[in-house]
Amino acid sequence: MYRSLCDFSLGYARKGWHVYPVWSVDEAGVCWCKGDKRHVPPLCPHAGKHPLPSRDLFPSGYRSATVDPHAIRRGWKGTANIGLHPGPSGLIVVDVEAYGLAEWDRLAAVRGQSPTLTAITGGGGRHLFFRKPEGVGRVPSPVGCWPGIDIRADDSGLVLPPSVSGKGAYLWVDSEAPIAVCPQWVLVQGHGRSFSVRFGCE
Ligand SMILES: [Zn+2]
Repeated sequence: MYRSLCDFSLGYARKGWHVYPVWSVDEAGVCWCKGDKRHVPPLCPHAGKHPLPSRDLFPSGYRSATVDPHAIRRGWKGTANIGLHPGPSGLIVVDVEAYGLAEWDRLAAVRGQSPTLTAITGGGGRHLFFRKPEGVGRVPSPVGCWPGIDIRADDSGLVLPPSVSGKGAYLWVDSEAPIAVCPQWVLVQGHGRSFSVRFGCE
């Protein structure tokens, strides 16, 4: 049975994941944001990855993400890709670029990391989904925690499968895989210095 991107968004929302619509791309990989002054094709630097403003329902990207099925049904347009705001969804996502995969494997082997829900990104990297532990407050979204590795939580969004960006399709490695609790060594990076001092780590 055919499922639209909106159907997938509703499915994520039922799990408590906060979603928002994202521009999609045409068959040639060109972003549909034609006419959006900030992203003039063919130079859109974030083809199929940046928020799609939708009436007054989703005015500010990931900050407008919701689990409300009525807002999702009304606000989704055509083939809009799916954005996730990890923070309110109780998630912390490690965003590994393709060139950071070897570094991530090294870190995971040395410091320990349970298998967890993973998506292959359009650019050939990985999104590793972790559950935020109880009692942990805001987790910002620091960039470059390690070479080619960012953390996405309260201050950013990301694209979910089965969206297709200008670089390619997002796919779950195993959509039924469990979500592991976020490792402490990732959290420490996510919180930056204040967390490190408060908890005496690193
Ligand atoms: Zn665009």
